[in-house]
Amino acid sequence: MIDVFPSDPEPVNSRGFSRRKFLASTSCFGAFYAVAKLIPLPALAAELAGDSRIADTPIVDKGFASVRKIGNGLYATISDPSKGNTTLCNGGFLAGKDAALLVEGFATPAGASFQMDALRMVSQVPVKGALNTHYHYDHSMGNAYYGANGVALWAHAAAAQRIVENYAPLQGADKEAVLGPFEKRVKDAKSETERQHAQSDLNAVTGVFQIANASILALPNHPIDPAKPPMIIDLGGLSAVIEFYPGHSGTDMIVRVPEQNVVYTGDLLFSGRYPVCFDDKATISGWRATLAKFTSFSKDTLFVPGHGQICGQEGIASIREVFDDIAGQTEKMFKAGVPVEEAQHRYVVPDKFKNFPIFAWGFTIGPAITKLYAEWKAGRS
Ligand SMILES: [Zn+2]
Repeated sequence: MIDVFPSDPEPVNSRGFSRRKFLASTSCFGAFYAVAKLIPLPALAAELAGDSRIADTPIVDKGFASVRKIGNGLYATISDPSKGNTTLCNGGFLAGKDAALLVEGFATPAGASFQMDALRMVSQVPVKGALNTHYHYDHSMGNAYYGANGVALWAHAAAAQRIVENYAPLQGADKEAVLGPFEKRVKDAKSETERQHAQSDLNAVTGVFQIANASILALPNHPIDPAKPPMIIDLGGLSAVIEFYPGHSGTDMIVRVPEQNVVYTGDLLFSGRYPVCFDDKATISGWRATLAKFTSFSKDTLFVPGHGQICGQEGIASIREVFDDIAGQTEKMFKAGVPVEEAQHRYVVPDKFKNFPIFAWGFTIGPAITKLYAEWKAGRS
């Protein structure tokens, strides 16, 4: 297991769960919460302005998210976390002649309800299911809406268990006990850089703590076995394929519509932002291989990312460059024998990516570096 903060001992609070366990139980959500007030988000990458598949105007725009047609029976829900935390992640839905598939449970039941209402603006077909692309908080805390409305909840076979393991311990936990260690890290920081990193992590977990305590956990009841061949879903004149790929969380499923070259990636793609890498099951080499695979999809592919703007292949190229840059800087430190505790704070954001939101350091760049060190050490032994 790779610690996000390997230089620290692992304090266990009075409720019996450690900070490391807590970090493992938090999600991208906190990171977005931390920067939410700062960055308004256009739904589309500029490169896609002329794409005839994409409607010029959304069918609905509530500020916190908008829903836009991106193909025949295909819609993308794009969140703008600067306008509130109702949805937080992106999603969408696919509506065929006979049935519909919803993508994501979002951060709150109101978010899931918002997307269901958008579906009902364009189609009355029965809903076959709602897919959590992975177990993380900002994609699953709204699941209770589906449970209450009899909508089957689909996800990777490990997702239900991981929701329970990672989020149940936060509910009803003592706030000071949870946040105390993060506050201490801010106070004890050895440099201004480390202090800023620690502060960003504190902001993130504060947000997660608030949402965790406002949520009712609802678990996926329709497990998808990643070892089986990809599931093909016939919605009536519209076929979707659900596929598993390694990288972000160990539970990452994508929805592909090969006939229209559209892919809903979940968090395997962060569009125009630094990737969130903290998960115990995140694998940097696996994730980079997954992104390489995405480049083999048609050059006309539209990607609906887990966070950020809808993009084309240029969005995949861009996130691959980010990974290349992190790996390049990390490799130099690794070869020079820089201890990992230092290395994880030393990455320098190049000019090219200075507009890419970083959210919390300890959810993105820090763990990417510690995981790269671990992968390379394992490769040597
Ligand atoms: Zn995630």
